[in-house]
Amino acid sequence: MHGRFAPSPTAALHLGNLRTAVVAWLLARRTGRGFRLRIEDLDATRVAAAGEVSRLQLADLAAIGLDFDGEVVWQSARLDAYAAAVAGLDTYECFCTRREIAEAASAPNGDGYRPYPGTCLRLPARQRAVLAATRRPALRVRAEGATSTVRDLWAGEVTGTVDDFVLVRNDGVPAYNLAVVVDDLAMDVDQVCRGDDLLSSSPRQAWLAGRLGGEPPGYAHVPLALNRDGERLAKRDGAVSLADLAPHGWTPGQVLGLLAASLGLCEPGEPVTPGLLLDRFDPLRLPREPWVVDPTDYSEAEANSRSTT
Ligand code: GLU
Repeated sequence: MHGRFAPSPTAALHLGNLRTAVVAWLLARRTGRGFRLRIEDLDATRVAAAGEVSRLQLADLAAIGLDFDGEVVWQSARLDAYAAAVAGLDTYECFCTRREIAEAASAPNGDGYRPYPGTCLRLPARQRAVLAATRRPALRVRAEGATSTVRDLWAGEVTGTVDDFVLVRNDGVPAYNLAVVVDDLAMDVDQVCRGDDLLSSSPRQAWLAGRLGGEPPGYAHVPLALNRDGERLAKRDGAVSLADLAPHGWTPGQVLGLLAASLGLCEPGEPVTPGLLLDRFDPLRLPREPWVVDPTDYSEAEANSRSTT
């Protein structure tokens, strides 16, 4: 039984990512689980310096005091496992471009995801041959309009229709929805705590876990950190990573305190450790609203006025 944190090495972890990591760690430890770390670096070839970014992410997680069990898992080293999983599933090739799907599909879901309308499932052989001559196919799973219900610790029951989602992209890279499920099963993860932008992916992933012969995990989706404009917090919003905050006088321990205060686990400026937070953590009292972050609040003047820890 394990929880996990699974960052993508696209940029340094920002306050929202770190906060989700803290909640996932607290929830796993609180419920007597181990805690695993996985680097979701399947896109690493497209991200300059992904190796360096992931090393910084590991260092930042250690700096705020989170510990992990077992080896770090790198998705880029698990391509054989994804291929083996795909081989056991009912799949078909899809030649559709993004634009064709947008034109054929119904409106996107609230999260921007467009359910696949099944075009290539019904493709006449001759048309398939024409497309195959010029396009590389993605591989989709045949879900036959299944529905799937998951239980989220905070959101309750969430039901979704499972479309024929992509397992392997047309550039040959395993899709996120495949890798995450294969890995969670292989890593004995039965508790998936992550940002609530992924809540709507959960029914799809739980269904796939079942198809792969596993038990779907329990879910716990944490409200995201937003900027002042109500958008998802990002690096461009200013001083949002440990490295950005350090010149303003913030130690990693103080940043942990900042995150803990946002979770209602301490007073602002109170010195904390992960162990102390664990004693205080009650999963059912987690704030259900997004955390609005204004990086100018963490300016030098503010840091100088805080007690040092
Ligand atoms: N790698 C994903 C991200 O950084 C998280 C995937 C997951 O937790 O399932 O957003």
